[in-house]
Amino acid sequence: MKAWSDKIRKIEPYVPGEQSKNKNIIKLNANENPYPPSPKVIKALKEITDKQLSLYPNSNAESLVEALANYHSVQPEQVFVGNGSDDVLALCFMAFFNSKKPILFPDITYSFYPVWCKLFNIQYKEIPVDENFKINPSDYYTENGGIIIPNPNAPTGISEGKDFIKNILNNNKDCIVIIDEAYVDFGGYSCIELLKEYDNLVVVQTFSKSRSLAGMRIGTAISSKELISILNAVKNCYNSYTVDAVAMQCGIASVNDNEYFKSVISKIKATRERVSKEFAKIGFNVYPSHSNFIFVTKPDINAKNLFEALKNEGIFIRYFNIPRIDNHIRITIGTDEQMDILIKAVKKYIN
Ligand code: PMP
Repeated sequence: MKAWSDKIRKIEPYVPGEQSKNKNIIKLNANENPYPPSPKVIKALKEITDKQLSLYPNSNAESLVEALANYHSVQPEQVFVGNGSDDVLALCFMAFFNSKKPILFPDITYSFYPVWCKLFNIQYKEIPVDENFKINPSDYYTENGGIIIPNPNAPTGISEGKDFIKNILNNNKDCIVIIDEAYVDFGGYSCIELLKEYDNLVVVQTFSKSRSLAGMRIGTAISSKELISILNAVKNCYNSYTVDAVAMQCGIASVNDNEYFKSVISKIKATRERVSKEFAKIGFNVYPSHSNFIFVTKPDINAKNLFEALKNEGIFIRYFNIPRIDNHIRITIGTDEQMDILIKAVKKYIN
């Protein structure tokens, strides 16, 4: 024990999907996009000027905020951008979850939520999803300090529609409801349209998945003007410049290339449907996914052993040693070639 040990923070961090120095691995463990970002993003990157690097960026990322407001048909005052959606979500937890009552989220969900609760001393209650990993909206009709639900949920990939979100909102008018739409572009229902009806709704999205920009770190929150101004105030108490000039310029280029965006998404969706069928054919239970990953299990196969065996073959997938899902694996949808190699390796393993 060091003399200062009792004065410093002790906390267990979130552990992201493993990154490898080996460039030859097939990386299907962090829900990254296997396709490059739009060529317009690469062009924007090359056009960065000396001044953009030597001067501070606009602290509220106004140009990117405007592009996003235009894209989502909302007012710029309703849009916030941050350094990846993890940054945006952490700021939302700080800004909106300030009650003595516990916030609610599903027990099977993005495992960063309890970590932020512990970091910011927020009380929380995990609500069990049912035996098919579905969220029951009426479980959320109780007193609470706020709600966060990913839609589609992670790591299950299961998504809910408009009625589900409206039911949650109608029964929770006195707290903030955050819907984490990290994977929504792959076929889920986006509740941005509901912002017209509900001023306590916050929708969080990311450029990391559907826009192939995980390395650039851009996330966004879209909400009422009032909540966005509070989010900006909290951000400005912590770090004025969370979005750098390069990310801003590249982000705008991405938002403005809708054709490329749609083509990448349709390729991933087609691969997802094909791979889901292939896994079902070899006896896996595949949860219906509206995201860029599938969540699967095969009762007679030990998921952790399969995960290790694939890793030895240079194929990285995600295994969670978490109760209820410790015999499941989550597989990011890669290119068709990558998925063919994966399927071959899985077949070899189960035979
Ligand atoms: N929400 C969910 C549900 C996620 O799975 C992730 C990715 N780990 C994020 C948010 C954060 O993504 P990013 O910080 O790259 O935007």
